[in-house]
Amino acid sequence: MTHEELANLEMEKRPHVVILGAGASRAAFPNGDGSGRQIPVMNDLVRLTGLGDMLESAGIEWRHRNFEELYAELRTDGASQETTVAVEQHIRSYFEAMQLPGWPCLYDHLLLSLRSKDVIATFNWDPFLMDAYRRNAHHRQLPHVLFLHGCVRAGICRVEHGAGWLGHDCRVCGAPLEPVPLLWPIKEKKYSEQRFIAEQWHNLGVAMENAFMLTIFGYAAPSSDEEAVSLMKQAWWKVRNREIEQIELINIAPRQELLTSWDAFFTRDHYEVRKDFYESWSARHPRRSCEACWDQFMEIHVRADSAIPRDADFTQLADWFRPLLEAERVAMLPEDQQV
Ligand SMILES: [Zn+2]
Repeated sequence: MTHEELANLEMEKRPHVVILGAGASRAAFPNGDGSGRQIPVMNDLVRLTGLGDMLESAGIEWRHRNFEELYAELRTDGASQETTVAVEQHIRSYFEAMQLPGWPCLYDHLLLSLRSKDVIATFNWDPFLMDAYRRNAHHRQLPHVLFLHGCVRAGICRVEHGAGWLGHDCRVCGAPLEPVPLLWPIKEKKYSEQRFIAEQWHNLGVAMENAFMLTIFGYAAPSSDEEAVSLMKQAWWKVRNREIEQIELINIAPRQELLTSWDAFFTRDHYEVRKDFYESWSARHPRRSCEACWDQFMEIHVRADSAIPRDADFTQLADWFRPLLEAERVAMLPEDQQV
């Protein structure tokens, strides 16, 4: 085996890490989700979730203000404790009621486009990634999923035996799982304080250290997330000099703004900016994103696109992915059984 072939094989085992922010859920459902709810980002969360009246009756001016800013103010003002709890409950209920549509959507496509060595980590409270995982779980070989700020569908055992689906019982003690606390937008988030969140961040760190590709989709790295960006940066640079890795930003924000935000992650020109998920490496080369990227930049061989059929129903989608999944299954077998 040549040095290049060996390097290629090694690279194929390395993860493609995809980080999701609110922009990803809005891109998935620009006209509202399966329940007809609009997908908020921090700048319009108060208006879209209908929190304005509650804030006004507590004497808080909310117009033209971002939710992070308002929430930080609520938390530092001791007199507003009751309002803070009511605001948190209202937002949780809004996100809990969100639903996927009854047909394949961007979240199904994203999950199926990555392999079990890959990782999707979301900052979103919404249930879309968990719900999409549940309805695609029969395919197996799905990527790992992580919830960096908690998720409205995730549950945790009261005595910390483990986490799972809210509504299920703990596998160890049988007690019903309780909601995972959501991480609210304050500057010092203390990711290590809650066990569930700490584990998600630990796993993201391990994945990022080993990642060959990093995609950041719809995540704006707001100032309230300084700690998040700093943790991600540490993991990215911890063990490698990143001479060959590739970063992909999917975001509708102005290009220059994005390049400035993520500059500390780039090696030379090993980055790309896209406005649409369906132009991304994983959408154009589902389950083979790292291989396609390696071929293009290291072997100067551009693979033909093999894009996900966006309009396929679940049956057609399963048929389309079957040969890819089968090839992976065979590749996992010992060599003498690979026929
Ligand atoms: Zn338990």
